[in-house]
Formats: sequence, structure tokens, C-alpha cells
Amino acid sequence: MTLAEQMKTVITEGQVLENEPMKNHTTFRIGGPADVLVCPGTEEEFIDGLKWCRKHLIPVYVIGNGSNLLVGDKGFRGVIFKICKTMDALDFEEIEGNGQLRIYAGSGIMLARMAKLISAKGYTGLEFATGIPGTLGGGVTMNAGAYGGEMKQVLQSVRTVDMEGNVLELTKDELKLGYRTSRVQKEQLIVLSAVLEVTKGSVDEIMSEVDDLSRQRKEKQPLEYPSAGSTFKRPEGYFAGKLIQDAGLKGYRVGDAMVSEKHSGFVVNTGEASAKDVRQLMKDVDAKVFAEFGVHLEPEIRMLGEF
Ligand SMILES: Cc1cc2nc3c(=O)[nH]c(=O)nc-3n(C[C@H](O)[C@H](O)[C@H](O)COP(=O)(O)OP(=O)(O)OC[C@H]3O[C@@H](n4cnc5c(N)ncnc54)[C@H](O)[C@@H]3O)c2cc1C
Repeated sequence: MTLAEQMKTVITEGQVLENEPMKNHTTFRIGGPADVLVCPGTEEEFIDGLKWCRKHLIPVYVIGNGSNLLVGDKGFRGVIFKICKTMDALDFEEIEGNGQLRIYAGSGIMLARMAKLISAKGYTGLEFATGIPGTLGGGVTMNAGAYGGEMKQVLQSVRTVDMEGNVLELTKDELKLGYRTSRVQKEQLIVLSAVLEVTKGSVDEIMSEVDDLSRQRKEKQPLEYPSAGSTFKRPEGYFAGKLIQDAGLKGYRVGDAMVSEKHSGFVVNTGEASAKDVRQLMKDVDAKVFAEFGVHLEPEIRMLGEF
């Protein structure tokens, strides 16, 4: 039996895809085949799949919407679990007396969808997330943020599972959320679901803020090209995009990978860029910025698989 056939005995409600090109599952539109890609139908099935892989020593990686990922051209040997648009339950309750809304959400829900829905109900706190093209799970792991907002401000607790299948509930403080980092990321935990809290506000003001942030993104970000968002983390005291621009690298290319001409903090795929092109370009950019300003740029995007 092939690995995919074996996985199909465990994953009966979800989808099991063999030799699946990862460029179909990343916003960069880059990445070779995963031996097997599984979209679990339910949380229980996901945990069973995880335990099965552990027992059979099969390498595993978990992704959401692939909006912060660079997957190697030779793909991934093992099983990739994609938690996106499944495990996406959403429920909420008003907390009596203090004007707050408690949200219960599955990790596969798209952040932007949840944020728009909650904003339109007149609750403030998630406006920053309306333009982030990732899942709640990816957002918790990366402590996603924008325009002064971040997941840390709204998260209350998170249910996680470790690679052995043990479920662990973490409070806000136990999550150790920092700039684009979290305990979930450091300890390779997987987010199953989360509880968030937002505050009652004025629908008009909230929706006007949402529109304003959306306009700013369209104006400043190269949304017309595939990318994985900001390529590098913000070095303390600097802006990565400004350093790259000041180093004269706007429009710098390796193959079809290019430093965006609209926003130097983004590397974009202008056609058929390979993962190798992107990685080389990132190395060149870091070297040039270091030579000019003595500052190293740390990747924000996560890399996986064989290059
Ligand atoms: C055009 C564009 C704009 C963007 N703007 C922003 C922005 O303003 N702010 C910002 O912070 N980011 C931004 N991003 C990056 C990205 O959308 C976020 O980092 C997002 O949170 C990633 O979510 P994802 O589901 O796509 O995760 P993926 O890219 O699939 O995975 C990213 C990491 O999270 C892990 N992961 C995914 N799901 C889970 C889970 N359930 N449990 C545990 N780990 C998991 C993966 O293993 C991986 O390490 C942008 C990206 C693009 C393409």
C-alpha cells in the first residue's frame, strides 16, 4: 500500500491527495509536490492522522492557508496536514454586563472572514486582521498583526495538540506571544481552536476603519502579484522595506523572483519563480543590507521541504 492509501484508512471524512503540488496551496504559487497532503474533515480525524504518522515515523508538517510559506522546489517527503476551510466552526456569546463578545473559533477559519463578520456586528478589536490572508491557526502561531493590532490583544486561550496527539489548553499568558512568534511556534504545537474577546463599539466607526485599512493595503502592497506578505521581520529600530529600498534593491530580481517595486518589504513571484530563486534573492538582499547598514534581516516567511 502507498502512503496515501494507508492515510485513507485513517482519513475517511477529509481529503487525501498524493504527490500534490504545493504551489496550489501557497499564496506564493511556489512549491514542489508533497508525498501526501491531507485536509482533515474533523478535529478527531486530524489527531488520529497525527498519531498514525507518529507511530509510523512519517515526517509531518501542518499548514493553514500557506500565506506565510516558501516550500522547496523538490517538495516535502512525508505528510502535510492542511487545516484550512475545515475545522472552521465559529460561535460567539455576549458577556453580560461588560459589552464584550466572546468568540469560539476553529483554527481553520480564515482570519479575514472572521474579522469582517465580527466587525460588521459592531465589535472592535479585529479590524487589523480583515486583510490578512491566513487562518486563525497560522495567525496564532505567527502572532499575526498589522496597523498597530495583533492577535495578542484579542486572544484569551487556545486549545493545542502536540505531535504525539496530546491535547493541551494554553491561557493567554502561557502562549508567550511576541513579535511574529509564540510558544506554539517554538514548541511545534498545533492550534485546534481558540477563544477571543472583542469589545462593543460603533459599527460606523469600525467599518470606516476596516475600509481605510483595506484602501491602505491596496495602495501600498503589491497585491496584484503572488507573495507571502512581508518577507523579513522588522529589525529592531528599523523597517525592513526601507533598508532594502535604501540599499538600492527595489526591483532587484533573481529569475522571476523580484523585490516589489511598490513595497520593498515584499518579494513577489512575477511568473514562474522557483523556491531557489526566492531563497537566493533573500540571501542577496540580506548580504547587501548588511554591507550597507550593518543590519541582518531575519526571514518572517517559514521555509519547508527540499530546495
Ligand atoms: C498579501 C499578504 C499580506 C499579508 N499581510 C500580513 C499582515 O498584515 N500581518 C501579518 O502578520 N501577516 C501577514 N501576512 C502573512 C500571513 O498571512 C500570516 O502570517 C498568517 O497568519 C499565516 O496564516 P496561514 O494560515 O496562511 O499560515 P501558513 O502560511 O499556512 O503557515 C505559517 C506558519 O504557521 C504554522 N501553522 C499554520 N496553521 C497552524 C496551526 N493550526 N497550528 C499551528 N501552526 C500552524 C505553519 O506550520 C507555519 O509555520 C500576509 C501575507 C500575504 C500573502
